[in-house]
Amino acid sequence: MDVSSLLDGLNDKQREAVGAPLSNMLVLAGAGSGKTRVLTHRIAWLMQVEQQSPYSILAVTFTNKAAAEMRERVEKVVGTNMGRMWIGTFHGLAHRLLRTHYQDANLPQSFQIIDSDDQLRLLKRILKSLNLDEKQYPPRQAQGYINGKKDQGLRPKHIDAGSFPIEQNLLNIYKIYQESCDRAGLVDFAEILLRAHELWLNKPHLLTHYQERFRHILVDEFQDTNAIQYAWIRVLAGKTANVMIVGDDDQSIYGWRGAQIENLHRFLKDFSEAKTIRLEQNYRSTANILNASNSVIANNPDRLGKELWTEDKDGEPISVYCAFNEMDEAKFIVSRISEWHEKGGSLSECAILYRSNAQSRVLEEAFLHKGLAYRIYGGLRFFERQEIKDAMGYMRLINNKDDDAAFERVVNTPARGIGDRTLDIVRSTARQHELTLWQACVRLVEEKVLAGRAANAINGFMELIISMRTDTADMVLYTMTDNVIDRSGLRTMYEAEKGEKAQARIENLNELVTAARSFEMPEELEDIGELNAFLSHAALEAGEGQADAFTDAVQLMTLHSAKGLEFPMVFMAGVEEGLFPSKMALDEGDRLDEERRLCYVGMTRAMQKLYISYAESRRIYGREDYASPSRFINEIPEKFVEQIRIRAQVKPSISKRFPARPATVTTKPNGFNDTGYRVGSKVKHFKFGEGKVINFEGSGEKGRVQVEFVDFGIKWLLVSLAKLERC
Ligand code: ATP
Ligand code: MG
Repeated sequence: MDVSSLLDGLNDKQREAVGAPLSNMLVLAGAGSGKTRVLTHRIAWLMQVEQQSPYSILAVTFTNKAAAEMRERVEKVVGTNMGRMWIGTFHGLAHRLLRTHYQDANLPQSFQIIDSDDQLRLLKRILKSLNLDEKQYPPRQAQGYINGKKDQGLRPKHIDAGSFPIEQNLLNIYKIYQESCDRAGLVDFAEILLRAHELWLNKPHLLTHYQERFRHILVDEFQDTNAIQYAWIRVLAGKTANVMIVGDDDQSIYGWRGAQIENLHRFLKDFSEAKTIRLEQNYRSTANILNASNSVIANNPDRLGKELWTEDKDGEPISVYCAFNEMDEAKFIVSRISEWHEKGGSLSECAILYRSNAQSRVLEEAFLHKGLAYRIYGGLRFFERQEIKDAMGYMRLINNKDDDAAFERVVNTPARGIGDRTLDIVRSTARQHELTLWQACVRLVEEKVLAGRAANAINGFMELIISMRTDTADMVLYTMTDNVIDRSGLRTMYEAEKGEKAQARIENLNELVTAARSFEMPEELEDIGELNAFLSHAALEAGEGQADAFTDAVQLMTLHSAKGLEFPMVFMAGVEEGLFPSKMALDEGDRLDEERRLCYVGMTRAMQKLYISYAESRRIYGREDYASPSRFINEIPEKFVEQIRIRAQVKPSISKRFPARPATVTTKPNGFNDTGYRVGSKVKHFKFGEGKVINFEGSGEKGRVQVEFVDFGIKWLLVSLAKLERC
C-alpha cells in the first residue's frame, strides 16, 4: 500500500498525527473524532513508511475486543498477518510478560489468575481465620484497600498504617492475603500489573532488552490509565521510545478504580517535547446527538476544553421516554427495536446501555418474550457463571493442587460430606504452618488429626483430584473438559436439580466443552501447555468472545463497557436520579462529574438515533424505588429532544422539564375511578408520609394515583404496590 492511501480517509489534523515525524505525541480529542482511527493508521504508517518492524511496536487498548479490532484493522491496512505483534490490554500484555519471565517475576510456571469473585472468597476466609468480624471489616472494603494499594504500586512493606487500628488491620489482611496468594501461585488482576512493573525495576537486563525492542509505544483511551499503568509505560519508554497517546479527558470513567486524568498532564511533563494535536471534527453522530452531548458535558468544571463539530445533518431528535416502571421501559425498548428490525435494520446495530448490570435481567426477559436475539457484554459472562467456574475449579486443581481459590470453590461442590468444621481445621492448619489448603489436608491426614468421616471425605476428594489428573494427562483439552465435568459429579448434580435454571447450567457446561474444542493456543503461550493457557484465557477474556458472536443480536452492556464503541441506534435505560447518577455518586459530591462523563460516553456512542428512558418506579436489587428523571436529561437543551409521551401540566417536584406523568384520566361519574381513590382523598404512604390525591389513571393492576405529599412533593404510585392508607 502506498503512502497516499494510508492518509486517505483522514482530515488534515488526523494526517498531521498519522504522518508526524518520530516523536512523542498526545492526541487530545472528543468522542468520535477518529482517535482510534488515527492510532491504527499510525501503526501502519510506522511499518510502511518509517520502515519500522512490527516487532518494535507495542500498542495498548482498553478491552480485548478493541485489541482484536485494532489488530484486524492494522492487518487490513498493511495486508499481512500481524501474528505475534504486541497489541493488547494492559492486563493482557503484562500477563504475557509474566508468562514469559515467570522465574524473574518469582512466580511458579503454573501460576493462575483469580478474578474479583475468587479474591473476595479468599479474603472472607482470611478474615475468618483472623477472627475479624465481617461487619466491622467488610470483605469488600479489604478488597478495595488491597487493590487500591496495588494500583498505586504499594506492597505492604511500603505502607505505614500509623496508629490507626483499622488501617493496621487492613494492612495485616493485605500481608496475609498476599502470602497465601504467593503460596498458592495465584495472581489477582492488580497484581498482574504490579508484578510487571516490578519486573522492570528489579530486572534491569530485562528492562534494557524490552527498551531496545519497543521503539514505538501507542496507548488508546489514555485518560483511564491508573498510576501503575502509567509507571509501567513510563519506565518501559525510558528516554528513547516514541510514545503516542490518545485520549479524551471528558471520557475518563474509571476514577473509582484508580484511573487518573492527571496522567494526561503528567505525560506532557514527563515526555520531552511531546506535541499535542487536537481533532475537532466528529464523524460518528448526527448534529443533534453531538450538540446534546456537548451541552451535557459542558456542566462539568475543570475540563481541558475541546470543541467538536460535525458536518452531519441534524438528524432525528433525541427521544425521551418516561416509563411507569422497569417492565414498561423494557417493553418500550424492545418494541422500538422490533420495529427497526421489521423494517430491515439489523439487531446488532442496536445497543442498550445501562448503569448497573442488575438492569439487564428485565430487558433479557422482554427479549426472550419477543423472541429477539440479544447478547450481553460484561455482567455475568460465560466464564463467570457458577457452573463454569465450578468445572474450571476442578481443572485448575488438576493443573495445580495448591490453587487455594479453586480448592475452596470445589472441595464440597457437589456436596461430599466435608463440613464447615473440617474446613475450618484445614484453613487454620494452613494458616498456622504457612501451607496451602491442599498441603494442609495432606498433613492433617498423615498426622491423623482428622479421623473417621471427616478424614474419609477429605481423602476421597484428594484421591479424586489425583486420579483425574493422572487419567486426563494424555487427553486433548476438550475430552479432558468433558471428562472432568462427569467425574467431578457436576453434571449429575445439576441434572438432579431439575428445572429450567439447572437445564441452562447443563447447557453451559456442554458449551464449555465446545469452548475447549475451539480454543486456539496463542502462539506466545505455547510453552505453558494447553490447559494452563486455556485457564488463563478464561480468566482474562471472560466473555468477550462469546460463543454466539456471529449471530445478529442486540447488544446489551453497561455504559462502562461501551467505551470506544459505536452503534447506529442506542438506548440509554434507567436514566434516573439515584441510578444514574448513582446513589453513591450523589452521596459523594466529586463522583458526580464522573457520572456525567459516563453519560457523555453513553450519548456519544449513538450514530443516528438516541433514545433515553427512565422509569418512575423500579424494582431493582430486590426493592422498589421511586425516582425522578436524571438531572442529565434536564441538561439537554429542549430543542434537541422529543418527548415520547406528552407530559402533564403538573409541576414536578425535582425535574424542571420532565414531570411525573401524563394525565390520561378515566374518571367515573361519581368522581372515583377504578383505582378506588378520588381527587382530594387524604392518604398516607409508609415512606413518603401524608399526602393528597390529585390525579389518577388506569384500573386494576395498572391503576395509579398521583399524590402530592407534604414532604416529598408529587409522585405517581401504583395502587397495587403503594399500600396507601386512607386518613
Ligand atoms: P471514542 O472517543 O468514542 O473512542 P474515537 O475518537 O476513537 O472515538 P473513532 O472510533 O476512531 O473515534 O472514529 C469514530 C468514527 O468516525 C468511526 O466510525 C471512524 O471510522 C469514523 N471516522 C474517523 N475519522 C474519519 C474521517 N476522516 N472520515 C470519515 N470517517 C471517519
Ligand atoms: Mg476510540
